[in-house]
Amino acid sequence: MKEKVIIVGGGISGLTAGIYAQRSGFDVLIFEKCATPGGVSTCWKRKGYMFEGGVHWLNGSGSDLDLHKVWREVGALQDNNPIYFKDPVYVLKNGKADLAIYRDAERTLKELSAYSPQDRKALRSIFRDVKMFRYFQSPVEGETRILDYIRMFPAILITPRLWMQSIKYYLSRIKDDDVRTLMEAVVAPVNNAMTFAYTLSGFFTGDSGYPSGGSLRMALNMADTFVKAGGQIRYNTAVEKVVDGGVYVNGELMKADAVIVTVDARTAIDKLFEKPLQDGWARRMRKLLVTSQTVFVGVGVEADLNHYPKSIVFKVPFRDGGVDVPFFVVSNYARDHYSPEGCTTVTALFPGYSYDWWKAAKEDGTYEAKKEAMAKRFIGILEEQIPETKGKIAVVDVATPITYQRYCDTYEGSYMSDWMPFTLTTNAPNRYRRGLYFAGQRTAYSGGLPPAVISGRLAVRLLCKDYGHKFTKE
Ligand SMILES: Cc1cc2nc3c(=O)[nH]c(=O)nc-3n(C[C@H](O)[C@H](O)[C@H](O)COP(=O)(O)OP(=O)(O)OC[C@H]3O[C@@H](n4cnc5c(N)ncnc54)[C@H](O)[C@@H]3O)c2cc1C
Repeated sequence: MKEKVIIVGGGISGLTAGIYAQRSGFDVLIFEKCATPGGVSTCWKRKGYMFEGGVHWLNGSGSDLDLHKVWREVGALQDNNPIYFKDPVYVLKNGKADLAIYRDAERTLKELSAYSPQDRKALRSIFRDVKMFRYFQSPVEGETRILDYIRMFPAILITPRLWMQSIKYYLSRIKDDDVRTLMEAVVAPVNNAMTFAYTLSGFFTGDSGYPSGGSLRMALNMADTFVKAGGQIRYNTAVEKVVDGGVYVNGELMKADAVIVTVDARTAIDKLFEKPLQDGWARRMRKLLVTSQTVFVGVGVEADLNHYPKSIVFKVPFRDGGVDVPFFVVSNYARDHYSPEGCTTVTALFPGYSYDWWKAAKEDGTYEAKKEAMAKRFIGILEEQIPETKGKIAVVDVATPITYQRYCDTYEGSYMSDWMPFTLTTNAPNRYRRGLYFAGQRTAYSGGLPPAVISGRLAVRLLCKDYGHKFTKE
C-alpha cells in the first residue's frame, strides 16, 4: 500500500510538493483553506476586469535556466501560458523626460548616463555589480551542477557585500532623483541589494518575464497536473492542527504517514501544532522576523491604454493606507485579455509595514471607509497622470495585509518571505523529523515564487529519502 501524505496548503509550494510526492509513489491529499489553488499568487475578477494580485515577473522565465525546467516539470508553464517580456521594463513618467529600464543593459546604462552625467561613474559601478549576476540562478537541489556554481562564482563573491545593505542605501550614491527613483522601482528599497542586482540582471539576460494568464493560470495548470497525476485537493478546507500521525480537519483526525506544512511557517509555528514550537529556529524566527507587506489597489478603466508602457513609475508621493512612499509603480494590463474590449485593468502595489494600521482600522470599524479613501486618492493621481482615465473608472478593488491574512493566513498579512538585509537566520527547516516537513514561505532564503517551488520540491526529496522512494521528476 502507498504511504499517505497530507499537504497543508495548496499555494505554489503545496502544489509543487503534491505533484512530486504523487509522482514519487505516495498517495497525496492537499487541504486548501481557499476556494482556488495558488495561495497569495492569484488573480480575481470584478465586473469583467481581472486583477493580477500575484506574479509581476517570474524568475525562471528564461528557457535555459534550471528553474524554468522545474516550472515546466510541475506544469506551471505550458503551451496555454506563453511568457512575454515587457520592453521597456519600467518607464518613469513626470521626470525631466521619460526615462526607462530596457531589456538591453548597454542601452539602459547609456540613456541613464546621458540623462544624468554626474552619475556616470556610480551607474557604471552599479551595472558592473549587476553584470556579475549574469550567470546567477536560483540553485535547484539535484539540478544545479558544479559548472553552474563556477559560472555563478562572481555573483557569489559579491553577494555578502550586497546582502548586508539595503537597496535604498546601495542606490543612495546616485544623485539624480529621477534616475535613483527609477532604479528603486525595480525591487522595494527596504530589501537587500543582492535582490536588486539579481532582479535587474534577470531583465537584461532574458529572465523575469510574465506568463500570460498570470498567477491564476499558473496555479490552475499546477492543480490540474497534480490531479492528473492522481492526487486529490479539498478546497475550502482548513487544517486545524497537525499531530503525530495526521491532521485534524473539522474536528476529525485524518491519518497520514507524513505531513508537509506549506502554510507561512511563522503562522504555523504558533497556530498549527498542539503546542507552539519552541525549537531554536522557531524562537529566532519569532524574535528576528521582519515581515514584508503590500497594499494592492486595482481599477478597471473604460479606456484603451495600450499606448502607455506596461509598467509606469509615478514619481508622486503617496501617503495613505498606512504607507508612505515617494513613488509607486502602476501596471497597465491593456490588451492582455484582463478587461472587456477597449478597456484596461490598472493596478499598483504599495509596499511598507501597514499591517498595524489596517488592523486598527478593522478594529475601530473604519476599514471599508479607509479602503475607499485610499482608492480615491489613487484614482485622483491616476487621472492627473493619465488624463484618459478621468471619469472612466468602472470598478475599484483594494486588498490589504488583512485581506492576505484572512484568505491565506500569512503572518501579519505578509505577501512573501522577507528579502531584507541579514535575514538568513530566520528560516524553518525543510525536514523537521521523519514524517514532518516544511515548505514555502520562510523555509528557503529570499522571497517570492522561486523559494516556494524549490522548497516544495526539496521537501519531497527529503520525504523520499526517509521512506525509501525514488524521487521522480516527471
Ligand atoms: C501582490 C503580490 C505580488 C507578488 N509578486 C511576485 C512576483 O512578481 N514574483 C515572485 O516571484 N513572487 C511574487 N509574489 C510572492 C509569491 O506569490 C509568494 O512568495 C508565493 O506565492 C508564496 O507561495 P507559498 O506556497 O510559499 O505560500 P502561500 O501562497 O501563502 O501558500 C500557503 C497556502 O496555505 C493555505 N493555508 C493557510 N492556512 C491553512 C490551513 N490551516 N489549512 C489549509 N490551508 C491553509 C493558504 O490559503 C495558501 O493557499 C507576490 C505576491 C503578492 C501577494
